Amino acid sequence: MKGEKKKKIVKTIKIDVDKCNGCRACEVICSAFHAAPKYSSNNPARARIRVIREPLTDIYVPVYAGDYAPAECAGRDKYTIDGKEYDECAFCRASCPSRDEFKEPDSGLPLKCDMCEGEDEPLCVKWCLADALVLEEREEEIDEEEEQAELEVGLESLADKYGMQKILDVVARMSKKDPG
Ligand code: SF4
Ligand code: SF4
Repeated sequence: MKGEKKKKIVKTIKIDVDKCNGCRACEVICSAFHAAPKYSSNNPARARIRVIREPLTDIYVPVYAGDYAPAECAGRDKYTIDGKEYDECAFCRASCPSRDEFKEPDSGLPLKCDMCEGEDEPLCVKWCLADALVLEEREEEIDEEEEQAELEVGLESLADKYGMQKILDVVARMSKKDPG
């Protein structure tokens, strides 16, 4: 049986690499917003965005934290931009076992951009004075069952890696410190 259709707002942050000046304000505000309690500290290692920097050639590429990957992928990417060869997987969005990016430094739990849930505009977009990050929104119809299945797959892989109790402990800690 086909599931119910429901409307969903899809948010896209358009990244203009040519406008990014590497100031890292996006990393700072993201980590402060997600600190517990909110704004109590800032540590770019906790940010859900990171800026790959190459100051000598004036290239800065903001990369957003995407989905958690339970295993390393078999193929790797290696980019060369303006003659500079970047590390393998440098621009990958996944939190994966092969590297430390996009992991909460204390707990090791994966970090993923949540578009600053609860805010009317993502804070990295608001704080990017160079207009390198611009928010676009559109409405799409999605299947309710598909959404539920996606959520279950995500939770299952987290539980496989960290154990359900650890996930529950972190959620309990977060809701206690940040009831809003
Ligand atoms: S705040 Fe904007 S200009 Fe600054 S590093 Fe982030 S994306 Fe680049
Ligand atoms: S949208 Fe919010 S959660 Fe995502 S990277 Fe920007 S500040 Fe962080």
